[in-house]
Amino acid sequence: MSYDQSAMNELHWLIDMVQTIEVGLVVLDRNFDIQLWNGFMENHSGVSPNSIKGSNLFEQFDYLPASWLKQKMESVFLLKNRAFISWEQRPYVFKFKNYRPITGRADFMYQNVTLLPLSSLTGQITHISLIVYDVTDVAINKLQLKAANERLEHLSQTDGLTQLHNRRHWQMCMQKEFDRHSRYGDKTSLVMFDIDHFKKINDNYGHLAGDKVIQHISHLLKQSLRETDCAGRYGGEEFSVVLAHTCAKGALNFADRLRKKIEKSELVFEKETIKVTVSMGISDINDQLENSGQWLAYADRALYQAKESGRNNCVIYDQDSAE
Ligand code: GH3
Ligand code: MG
Ligand code: MG
Repeated sequence: MSYDQSAMNELHWLIDMVQTIEVGLVVLDRNFDIQLWNGFMENHSGVSPNSIKGSNLFEQFDYLPASWLKQKMESVFLLKNRAFISWEQRPYVFKFKNYRPITGRADFMYQNVTLLPLSSLTGQITHISLIVYDVTDVAINKLQLKAANERLEHLSQTDGLTQLHNRRHWQMCMQKEFDRHSRYGDKTSLVMFDIDHFKKINDNYGHLAGDKVIQHISHLLKQSLRETDCAGRYGGEEFSVVLAHTCAKGALNFADRLRKKIEKSELVFEKETIKVTVSMGISDINDQLENSGQWLAYADRALYQAKESGRNNCVIYDQDSAE
């Protein structure tokens, strides 16, 4: 076999492979006119190489993000460097349907795309190549894992009955607010509250009714919160709220409004109308506090005072009268 013949053979094989490889290959000239469009691109776009050759990429596919993609391509021409487009940055460049049965959950093909400068025999960059990889499987797996992790994280932080923060997560928020105060000296207050005579609710109406009452109070609490507040179910029928940017007086305002709202509200459970009240303790952050535990303990002591003074009441912790 002559050298020419063997070179021709090699070229023939190469073209065959380019046509059949399970990767998209496109060659564009300086005007973004299509010079090569392989089998993968044909199969997924439904457009044959013969009908598309010579036509402009952006006229052919008007959904392409033209200015963004052109800028990327220009920099490949100019800098003679490769560029990459990841599915995480943009799920796809070419809008291809996803036919894979295993990943039937995605209706389009996720793609990674490499932009490659192609030099002529004289060393100039006259063309660029787009290499399109189908990464749908990888993308779907990663997205599902991410969603599962987010769900798990949410579950690990949330109280099942009320959908408020659970105690552990609430305590973390509280610690954060406490640290923020140490740094910036923001006014921040803590409110602890507990349902009055809750044992009687359970005794009179049953545990299920008790659960409904806890949910009902959580609902009223959530309605009263601002974006920056952090509320949790501290224990069985005990709730805790950190009010950011709020002094003790402001917290008393919040607490009293919520207390009255709870007092006025009614819960109907199996034709029985249930009414409850709550007692609340408030303490604000001040520079005398040694740690967040003390802050919490003071709110708890104020709550105890509210109970002692007859319940259905809000009390601000007063350090002077306590000592
Ligand atoms: P006080 O006014 O002093 O707070 O009286 P109380 O009866 O509410 O007393 P306490 O706060 O000590 O009682 C809490 C009761 O709440 C005890 C427990 O049986 C009940 N409890 C705790 N968690 C739950 C829960 O998730 N669901 C129901 N239904 N009851 C709960
Ligand atoms: Mg209690
Ligand atoms: Mg109670």
